[in-house]
Amino acid sequence: MNTPSLMPFEQALGNMLDTVSAITDKETVELSKALGRILCRPVNSTLDVPGYDNSAMDGYAVRSSEAKKGACLKVIGVAAAGHPYNDEIPANSCVRIMTGAPLPDSVDAMIIQENTEANQDKSGITLLQDVVEGDNIRRRGSDIALGEEVIATGTRLSPVDIGLLASLGIEEVTVYRKPKIAVFSTGDELVAPGGKLKSGQIFDSNRYLLLAMLEKMGVEVINLGRLNDDLDAISQALRDATQSCDAVITSGGVSVGDADFTKTALEQLGSVSFWKVAMKPGKPFAFGKLKNTWFFGLPGNPVAAAVTMEQLTQPVLKHLAGEKHINPESYRAIASEYLKKRPGRADFQRGWYEQDNNGQLKVSSAGSQSSAVLSTLKRANCFIRLEQERGPVNSGEEVTILPFSALLK
Ligand code: AMP
Ligand code: MG
Repeated sequence: MNTPSLMPFEQALGNMLDTVSAITDKETVELSKALGRILCRPVNSTLDVPGYDNSAMDGYAVRSSEAKKGACLKVIGVAAAGHPYNDEIPANSCVRIMTGAPLPDSVDAMIIQENTEANQDKSGITLLQDVVEGDNIRRRGSDIALGEEVIATGTRLSPVDIGLLASLGIEEVTVYRKPKIAVFSTGDELVAPGGKLKSGQIFDSNRYLLLAMLEKMGVEVINLGRLNDDLDAISQALRDATQSCDAVITSGGVSVGDADFTKTALEQLGSVSFWKVAMKPGKPFAFGKLKNTWFFGLPGNPVAAAVTMEQLTQPVLKHLAGEKHINPESYRAIASEYLKKRPGRADFQRGWYEQDNNGQLKVSSAGSQSSAVLSTLKRANCFIRLEQERGPVNSGEEVTILPFSALLK
């Protein structure tokens, strides 16, 4: 049954992505500090890579016209990486060449050492195979051509990108400024780890989980601590966050309980776009704005906080940071057991997927699907995403799985 006051997951995400505009401030960083940063203009190659024709293997540089099986060639010099051979090469001669060495003028191929035999007097070699023009040669510009776009705007720079940039001799890159994101948790019952629990109290796990996930995102994080369920204290923290932050993320207090003040504070100080999403876990999720600061009010139940951070907040923060690729990885898998599900909300069940002996992806439940049971998340490696109107899933039916992103690993 569809409850009209709940906003479908896709609509909630689409609404946030349409509303939030990406950061445009830029800064230049050294290559060694650029990992995980978002590129704000494309990188075009100022070089051909490789910069010259060179040898892919160790062996002998030859003229293919002279290099037939059984031919004897005189070895008249050596070319090594960093040490080109620049002299003339007479007829029926070759040059000993090492991997990466520039190919001398007037030769057009190389034969690998294993396909030659040294002559008895050591003056030359006999070829054990025919050689074809271009054999074992890495051509100038064959990897990257001068002017070619190498990395697109909006790319989160990976270790491979850093290596590519280095191969082009680029020592600094222009990236978007990191988003500044404040986090606080609310709840009279919460005690920071290290404290002593009194009756009815629990440790504040959400703030630590969320701070860790944000650290993985590579944003600038501001820890505003734990607040009591107190309208004034929450309002003050929200006002503080608007001074300097691009976004504020809270946990708890966005439901319909008597102590749920976060949404009220947001309504008084800014505006709430929506605060109930048709997803499970994560129904109480509030999105809004306070002056120029975006607000994400995550539910208090730890799994619901983690799921809404991963599935709803992460893509919006990536978009805010200027990143282009924001869609999660997803696959189809076969449910290896019955999965309980009621129509009305999109489920993000905690699951474990693996490949069976035939290469088929199979997924099963990782344990209790209660939004309070954080240990199930520890036993899971994916979310099983079940569509809003879908009912129970029988063993053998196909489902969509979303492997955990880097934020949860
Ligand atoms: P709330 O959304 O504030 O109504 O909280 C829902 C449930 O999540 C309650 O059982 C809270 O005690 C629990 N909870 C709220 N905040 C946290 C937190 N930061 N860490 C762990 N559990 C929490
Ligand atoms: Mg609470």
